[in-house]
Amino acid sequence: MRLSLVSILSIIALILVIIILILIGLLVFQTATSASSISQSIQITTVQPTPLPKPSPTMRLIEPTTAVPTIIPTLTNQPTSLPTDAAVLNPTATPLTAVIDTPVPYGFEKSIGKSHQGRDIVSYQFKNGPNKVLFVGGMHGGYEWNSIVLAYHIIDYFMANPADVPDSVSLIVIPSANPDGQYLVTQKEGRFQPEDVKVEDTFPGRFNAIGVDLNRNWDCDWREDAVWRNQPVNAGTHPFSEPETQALRDYIWEIKPRAVIFWHSSANGVYAARCPELFLPALQLGEVFGEAANYPVHEYFDYYRINGDASDWLVTQNIPSITVELRTTKGLDWPQNLAGTQAALDYYAQQSELFPKNSAK
Ligand SMILES: [Zn+2]
Repeated sequence: MRLSLVSILSIIALILVIIILILIGLLVFQTATSASSISQSIQITTVQPTPLPKPSPTMRLIEPTTAVPTIIPTLTNQPTSLPTDAAVLNPTATPLTAVIDTPVPYGFEKSIGKSHQGRDIVSYQFKNGPNKVLFVGGMHGGYEWNSIVLAYHIIDYFMANPADVPDSVSLIVIPSANPDGQYLVTQKEGRFQPEDVKVEDTFPGRFNAIGVDLNRNWDCDWREDAVWRNQPVNAGTHPFSEPETQALRDYIWEIKPRAVIFWHSSANGVYAARCPELFLPALQLGEVFGEAANYPVHEYFDYYRINGDASDWLVTQNIPSITVELRTTKGLDWPQNLAGTQAALDYYAQQSELFPKNSAK
């Protein structure tokens, strides 16, 4: 019995030892697995943050899109600051649009002076820009009556099409610079028709009422013994001895035009002014007009000696000037002269206030 008891006890002890060993073994295994699971969970947490930043950037990308509207208000705030700049500019812009919108086909029609026989020399102005371009017809009266009719055609055209005059320009037309010479040939004051020219000999209508050739009466190389072709003409007693030339000179001094264009007939071409040397701005104007109107352009008029010419006198005033000689003594060379006129207006619309004043050679 005692032995069997001892043996039973030892068996129990052995079982206990086995159980303890198993438990120890289990513990060791558990810690091992828990350690690996910790390292796994660490790996997960370290992996998880990497995917997490991915959504967070997409969140940030969305955030800017939601933040864009908040930027847009700042942009709309900028426009509100921009209109303030525009509002500063507006005072200058508003009068300009007011000028454009106001239907003023021509602003001014006035007499710049009177002829020997008391006839008005009339100017017509279209628009009121700072760059004044003056056109003059009829310096040689009824002898070159087509230059007067052409000037009235120009007036009629721009009366019907005022928008064709650039806003920075004033177009000024004096259709008849020698109204007594016009009257002698047409028996009309102001407007007339080609049919009103009934006399065979228009030559006496070239001069003013006391027989002076007004285009020999200006103060550039003036000479008493002036000529037209090979015959002597009356140049007046001295430069500006005639009321017609005085009136035109004073008007030019008053308005200070950017350029002056004279219509004559008929030598078919554009002739730049010189006094006595070539004046480059005049030649440039001649090229602008001549190219548009398809006239030959000449540096100066050299068919015969010219003294006291109006166009040449403008060189002494640093004002570019040309003489446009029509092809015939009857035609208007229309629409060529319209194209030339438009080209000259557009040319001076682009000229700044700093137009070269001393470019004469
Ligand atoms: Zn002439």
